[in-house]
Amino acid sequence: MFHPENDSQFPGLSVNKGIERPPSVNPYLNNNRQFFRKNYSPAEYVEAIIKGNITLLSQAVTMVESSRYEHQQMAQEIIEKCLPYAGKSVRIGITGVPGAGKSTSIDAFGMHLIKDKGKKLAVLAIDPSSEKTKGSILGDKTRMEDLSREKDAFIRPSPAAGSLGGVARKTRETIILCEAAGFDTILVETVGVGQSETAVHSMVDFFLLIQLAGTGDELQGIKRGIMEMADGIIVNKADGDNISKSQLAASQFKSALHLFPMPDSGYLPKVLTYSGFYNLGIKEIWLMIEEYVSFTRANNYFESKRNSQSSYWMYESINEQLKTNFYQNKYVLENLKEKEMKVLKAEISSFVAAKQILDIYFDNRGKC
Ligand code: GDP
Repeated sequence: MFHPENDSQFPGLSVNKGIERPPSVNPYLNNNRQFFRKNYSPAEYVEAIIKGNITLLSQAVTMVESSRYEHQQMAQEIIEKCLPYAGKSVRIGITGVPGAGKSTSIDAFGMHLIKDKGKKLAVLAIDPSSEKTKGSILGDKTRMEDLSREKDAFIRPSPAAGSLGGVARKTRETIILCEAAGFDTILVETVGVGQSETAVHSMVDFFLLIQLAGTGDELQGIKRGIMEMADGIIVNKADGDNISKSQLAASQFKSALHLFPMPDSGYLPKVLTYSGFYNLGIKEIWLMIEEYVSFTRANNYFESKRNSQSSYWMYESINEQLKTNFYQNKYVLENLKEKEMKVLKAEISSFVAAKQILDIYFDNRGKC
């Protein structure tokens, strides 16, 4: 285009060609939309997952977590097809009360596994409180800053909705998908408050309990049940002024463990001190787990525990799905409140009400 300023008589002035105005819409948006909208078949999902495609792995996990019938159907098909590729990881459960340092420890431990051991790590979570809060902070990426930037780490918060049984089943199914995607180490995190430990314990090979010095637990022996489940106890925050207290706590835990019967694994749990924050004693934790895995592989406990876990989960799945199916049944829902009112008014007994509702369910279970 001609500009008078560009005329040779005005040598000091020139107008350069401006940059082209970029389109106001991202030209790649459409491609992405198509990508996300495309309806992949279960076989396509499986093919992508076993190649390590994280986007489709995440989408498949979302389907596992979904309560929509068609998602569930699809998820089950994907899981079934992934099963032959699963099972090759070491599954580790990790628990500790809020503030014990779970996220700090998982961050440090996970980085050690990825950077020094060349592992691929999936961090999953089971958080029973998420049922009430409809959201979970466990397994949240923001709590594991270093790990969340690693391509070899897959971090997924706890599934939010449903009963503990339902949440646990979803996490167990997610383990299968992660293993098929090539994650060779799975960490399942939970808070040290009760039932969720049992659920995590029943899906992992090694159960790690984080303890702190000076909380009184080591003296009062509380959370005995959880201590009994542990394959290893790690006392965190063994740094600065806290080192000797932590060592004392560790020796108290050790003597407490001697009072329990020998675990079925035949492996006497170890007690280690470490600092997640200052990255001290982290590699010893992994050495302990490796030692446990080779010990239990050699005495066949590893395999037999996985087998008994599989049958346990078969029954758990049946129970949970029967329950879900029952409470989603239209006819049950129509009658439930009315029967409950009758029970409250003492017009019928709770057993009669239950029987009537169950009869309604069995008569109509195929109808919705
Ligand atoms: P979580 O609730 O179990 O996940 O615990 P966090 O990892 O969020 O840690 C709780 C608090 O303890 C945070 O303020 C951490 O900085 C601190 N913390 C965690 N690990 C250590 C440690 O090894 N040493 C010290 N001194 N503090 C730690």
